[in-house]
Amino acid sequence: MSKLKHLEEVENLLKLANTAFSDDYLTEKKDLYEIKPHKVNSFLKRKHFEEKKEEIRATENNYELNSPTKKSEFGDINYFDLEKIVLNCSKCEAANFRKNIIFGKGVRPATLMAIGEGPGREEDNNNDLFIGKSGQYLHKWLEAIEVNSNEDVYFTNIVKCFSGSNPTQSIVDSCFPYLERQIELVNPKVILILGKIAANNIFKQNLGMKDMRGKIYTYKRIPCIVTYHPAAVLRNPHWRRPVWEDLKKVKQLIEI
Ligand code: SF4
Repeated sequence: MSKLKHLEEVENLLKLANTAFSDDYLTEKKDLYEIKPHKVNSFLKRKHFEEKKEEIRATENNYELNSPTKKSEFGDINYFDLEKIVLNCSKCEAANFRKNIIFGKGVRPATLMAIGEGPGREEDNNNDLFIGKSGQYLHKWLEAIEVNSNEDVYFTNIVKCFSGSNPTQSIVDSCFPYLERQIELVNPKVILILGKIAANNIFKQNLGMKDMRGKIYTYKRIPCIVTYHPAAVLRNPHWRRPVWEDLKKVKQLIEI
């Protein structure tokens, strides 16, 4: 190949690569004019590598990579010991109000872990969670994406005791380390987070549902979808469509 032909090819490659390569690569241009075929090959390889990186970046943009990866406070404690600790907990003011401590229920390891905000009065009275109208509604949602509440799901809340109203931040902060370890032990394939308070506390942020929905978060490398709490959707039926969109994403992630 003539040197001129070679240079033309290199110029074309550089034009192609201009948008993908950083300045430090373009400083190599001089070397490329004293081109050898193996340089063109490595040039192409590098271009391909940069394109791949762009692809990966584009995929990552759909993920919010802001979750902790370090071990939880309860480190190596097993599921039953953690449950025992929680069932004897009086760490926060909710201990003075609750009738029951509702740790969580379901299968482990789970295909899906559903995490809500906290037990309501009815749940506190019945020592159970996701019961009543909103619980039944949640089971219907899961059924719609062919997820069996009895065989595939583990249910819990970010706080384990009813405190008479929405849990205060100090209640959430006291209880959160239990959830961290619980997630590790349940080891779900996908997490469905129900409501703004649960999501903001899990991801240590303060965003509205509009900003959280439609994204795939990760928590300890587990993909998470944020959607409205079923109780809120019962009060606001126009949120049914966005919930359905979120559930379809959950199904896709389960099937990956
Ligand atoms: S809400 Fe959590 S931290 Fe507070 S008493 Fe109940 S289990 Fe303990």
